[in-house]
Amino acid sequence: MELQFLGATGTVTGSKYLLTHRNSRLLVDCGLFQGYKQLRLRNWSKLPFEPSSLDAVVLTHAHLDHSGYLPLLVKNGFRGPIFCTPATSDLCKIMLPDSGRIQEEDAEHANRHGRSKHSPALPLYTEADAFRCLDFFKTRELHEDFEPAVGIRASMLRAGHLLGSAMIRFLIGNTGILFSGDLGRPHDLLMQPPENPGHADFLVVESTYGNRLHDAVDPIEQLGAVVRRVAARGGVIIVPAFTVGRTQQLMYCLSRLKATGKIPADLPIFLNSPMAVDATEIYRRHSSEHRLQPDQCSALFNIATMVNTVEQSKSLNKRSGPMLIIAGSGMATGGRVVHHLKAFAPDPKNAIILTGFQAGGTRGAAIQAGADSIKIHGEYIAVRAEVACMSNLSAHSDRGETLAWLRAFEVPPRRTFITHGEPDAADALRRGIEESLHWNCIVPDYLERATLDAPAEVA
Ligand SMILES: [Zn+2]
Repeated sequence: MELQFLGATGTVTGSKYLLTHRNSRLLVDCGLFQGYKQLRLRNWSKLPFEPSSLDAVVLTHAHLDHSGYLPLLVKNGFRGPIFCTPATSDLCKIMLPDSGRIQEEDAEHANRHGRSKHSPALPLYTEADAFRCLDFFKTRELHEDFEPAVGIRASMLRAGHLLGSAMIRFLIGNTGILFSGDLGRPHDLLMQPPENPGHADFLVVESTYGNRLHDAVDPIEQLGAVVRRVAARGGVIIVPAFTVGRTQQLMYCLSRLKATGKIPADLPIFLNSPMAVDATEIYRRHSSEHRLQPDQCSALFNIATMVNTVEQSKSLNKRSGPMLIIAGSGMATGGRVVHHLKAFAPDPKNAIILTGFQAGGTRGAAIQAGADSIKIHGEYIAVRAEVACMSNLSAHSDRGETLAWLRAFEVPPRRTFITHGEPDAADALRRGIEESLHWNCIVPDYLERATLDAPAEVA
């Protein structure tokens, strides 16, 4: 039994783990690298195995840093099943084609403006490639037992991070291997808490916030204070957000704030994402996975004006404040929010609210670090707008919450692999686990292989 780390090492992106047992080969997650250019370039390099030699892929959740490489895997020859929960499958049906579309648009934009060093600039994959990979999806319910490859049994547990998100437990003979995927929080505004892990011989755990605790502030109050302040001065508020998950959380907060009179009832709110309507429908369909009642679901989506076409999106940039625009992508790496930042970041009257983890190398991380300009479409755009960071809206458990989840293990795993964190965060979680739980931990490197059937090691 062997595990190879093909991503999410030293970074929160590119999650891909190759699990091999005899002739069976599984890929756990199939994500895109994002952020630093040297990471993004890995999306273009050949995988260290033939995609056609894989038996199956098992997905933890739909975020692109866990699913966004699938269209390329299929394009390069993979023909096996892609197992995931029904909600993850529904989300991938809108997110993967959208990802392909954005890459085509970016390549086209680069060619039109002669910005690419490659001529012509090519998309990593197209919308058509993404639609093709959807044919290989096979859904499994949480807790359902299945055999994705000969000799490897699997089941999924609720992770509470995003609609459909799951931890995956594999059983090979008597050996259990648990992948936490992205771990949600015990008291999320919308999501149910992650399930207790039970037992595993080997654990792969994420460490996005391994070195940090989220602010113990009420996110609704915190958001309300910024919105009130900026709206009072007639400013525009730009909120980069994933269309699924973070956007619904924000809309829930905004609907609470409007209902209680804490922000102006007539403040225009725009949800600028062609996927938003579909995402709403998916939330309605999978009501058991979140805490919203059906009427809350409807109320939440009625507070924003949906922006569908590119023309509507562009016309927002000519409009004056006060108004609030939610648009993807969450780390401002692409998508429509980039155009809004170009239009509104230079004016100190405006504000940018960052609500999630901003991976190193992204525009979001630069804004968070206080950069006075960011590069958009080849030119430097001044950032004079107010910047507010709201970590308590995070969909990832923080250091304390992760350690509390780990304490629920029935017996310590024989070995714990710490992944999905930038180097400081992963190492801090390693120290935290070693010092407080005395477990045997490893922070693996990119492409590192680990043999899993070794006898228990002395820690
Ligand atoms: Zn995620």
